[in-house]
Amino acid sequence: MTPTPPTATRPDRAQMVVRVENVSKTYRLGDQDVPALKNINLSVEPGVFLALAGPSGSGKTTLLNLMGCIDTPTTGRIVINNQDVTGKTSDELADLRARTIGFIFQTFNLLPVLSAEENVEYPLLQIREIDRRERRERVARYLEMVGLANFARHRPNQLSGGQRQRVAIARALATHPAIVLADEPTANLDHVTGKSILRLMKAINREFRTTFVFSTHDPRVMELADRLVHIEDGEIRRLGVRTRDQRLLYAAERPPRRSHDEER
Ligand code: ADP
Ligand code: MG
Repeated sequence: MTPTPPTATRPDRAQMVVRVENVSKTYRLGDQDVPALKNINLSVEPGVFLALAGPSGSGKTTLLNLMGCIDTPTTGRIVINNQDVTGKTSDELADLRARTIGFIFQTFNLLPVLSAEENVEYPLLQIREIDRRERRERVARYLEMVGLANFARHRPNQLSGGQRQRVAIARALATHPAIVLADEPTANLDHVTGKSILRLMKAINREFRTTFVFSTHDPRVMELADRLVHIEDGEIRRLGVRTRDQRLLYAAERPPRRSHDEER
């Protein structure tokens, strides 16, 4: 056996939940190209609680949408659970999304005509082998986990913002996804509620090793992450890793690019 360097606790490539490889995304807006992401490389280890941090417009949503197969890269590739998603049909992508990825949104995105329990049940209906009994059981289990067992019959407009986001968390977890992607999950909540939502996500991460990637521009929310990816102008600027004694170590630091000449 070769001696184990400290970094060898990182799983190898094949074990990564998501790999983003040389990914760029350029939007076409009228006759202009808007570069939203520029050559991003990022691997998400199973079980991490990873924050994508960056100002508005830095590319956080674009990156989460690519990782969640909601959108496709202009160049580069996305590998989820060792499956290259390039070239998959939209049906195959929909199936991969339904089984592998849980989404939590800034605006909760609950269906207003459905109760809390029906919202949690909804994505389970897309997975054929989950029968009615199993659905019932999961709905009850996950509503309980987020502290809403007594609100199962409430509609979203009968719930507070924090409660709505809890329903969204239960909905994201119910399919047993490999990864939960949360795009600014606390941005529409007051600070105290936002922090409690993040703490709930972290508790679930710690207890069940659910992999979370969430975006935020709130430094108080970033504090809870054990991986911090700073993104600016569509580029990763810094990668921080939380050590056991809760310090944040920065692994890579890259100054902003000065000109297009340096882009190679
Ligand atoms: P963030 O989530 O960090 O605020 P986004 O990923 O939403 O950033 O946006 C990154 C950049 O891409 C911004 O300049 C934004 O204006 C642009 N952008 C995002 N979506 C589109 C789109 N559908 N069409 C054109 N430009 C877009
Ligand atoms: Mg965004």
